[in-house]
Amino acid sequence: MNIERSIFREYDIRGTYPEQINESSIKLIAHAIAIRCKKDGVNTLVVGRDGRLSGPSLLDAFCSGLLESGINVNNIGLVTSPLLYYAAKKSISKSGVMITGSHNPKNYNGIKMVINDNPISGTEIYSLISNKDIDQVKNGEIEYSDIKSEYIDEVCKNIFIKKPESLKIVLDCGNGSAGCIAPDLFKKLGFNVIELFSEVDGNFPNHHPDPGKIENLQDLIQKVSEHNADIGFAFDGDGDRVGLVTNNGDLIFPDKLMMLFSKDILSMKKGSIVFDVKCSNQLGSVIQENGGHAIMSPTGHFHIKKSIKENDSLLGGEMSGHIFFNDKWYGFDDGHYAAARATEILARSDKSISELFEEFPSSSSTPELNISVTDKTKFTIINKFADECDLEGEKITIDGLRINFKNGWGLIRASNTTPKLVLRFEADSIDEMNNIKGLFLSELSRICPDIDINLD
Ligand SMILES: [Zn+2]
Repeated sequence: MNIERSIFREYDIRGTYPEQINESSIKLIAHAIAIRCKKDGVNTLVVGRDGRLSGPSLLDAFCSGLLESGINVNNIGLVTSPLLYYAAKKSISKSGVMITGSHNPKNYNGIKMVINDNPISGTEIYSLISNKDIDQVKNGEIEYSDIKSEYIDEVCKNIFIKKPESLKIVLDCGNGSAGCIAPDLFKKLGFNVIELFSEVDGNFPNHHPDPGKIENLQDLIQKVSEHNADIGFAFDGDGDRVGLVTNNGDLIFPDKLMMLFSKDILSMKKGSIVFDVKCSNQLGSVIQENGGHAIMSPTGHFHIKKSIKENDSLLGGEMSGHIFFNDKWYGFDDGHYAAARATEILARSDKSISELFEEFPSSSSTPELNISVTDKTKFTIINKFADECDLEGEKITIDGLRINFKNGWGLIRASNTTPKLVLRFEADSIDEMNNIKGLFLSELSRICPDIDINLD
């Protein structure tokens, strides 16, 4: 049987169901993961799935592939990725696999893995795929457990909220798997919770579970205003990313949310904070002003997690909305926990959430912009651009090319996960931001005249 090489990616495995990932191919992937586990002395895996329609049958096939390879399985069923990471952290083997399509269209599914507390790349698993019969071993054993109440109890002990009943919170789970945990968690924390789309439904009948796109936040914004709520949160399909909407209905970009978390954490502890190359310059300034050490990292789960470990950082975050608390939590990205931390700060203050964000420097910035290219050409384009770019400024080349100018910055990099170039611009004023954007785009068309520069 042939498995497409392209579904094994730098950080995970992802493809369409049933064409690229199906019950037979996921069994072969399970055999390969079993080989990887044994290399590390791991003989038990926690496994779970998000709410996609293909999830139950893929998880069953995956479990049987592990069992016949002699791996023991703890099946925690329908969960979010943070719940799976949490269960893996609590297990003796510190290893787990999540069957998830994250925020991708509903016909997608995939795999995120942690083995011995380390993220494992899809490409490494691809190198272990074999069509040979597996060696005859004693079958593994399977048990079923529910991690949710243990998780909720631990978050409730971890977070202190004064008078939670006075806060009205809207939660939009977008029919993703966050619906199985976020409403229960926030009710247990004592808030006045208003729910949107908590029923897990892999058809995503209301809007797509991707809070990174403004069109997916319209229901949340409307509900916050309708109920005069204090804050609103939206989660992506597997609950590892969060989007925040203020009492005024404004969407807060994740780098601004990181400013709020950084200031709060640094008031209690000093240390470093990691953020990706797409984040605002202002975030680095806020971290430094509050006595922290700011570390800029390449974009991607793998890099942020690695940097947090290497520097024993207090917090990590990405512009995409993945936020990793490591001050008094476990250092994995957890959308519902991040939401609970934001409400902890709000509850402690006598200000509204919009007033709390107003305390930070404002700037004009674009969201993430994309130019479609191909997976084959994206890195060549970026390398050529970085080599030949004549723009004057402080050049940062940890991931693509970011240039800091006097009043702002611009970034162009290759997406790790899609056939796209990623651009972002920020400056003191809209005019200056558009100016920097114009400089980058004209430089791009000079260096790579064949690219169709169509920003989306
Ligand atoms: Zn996700």
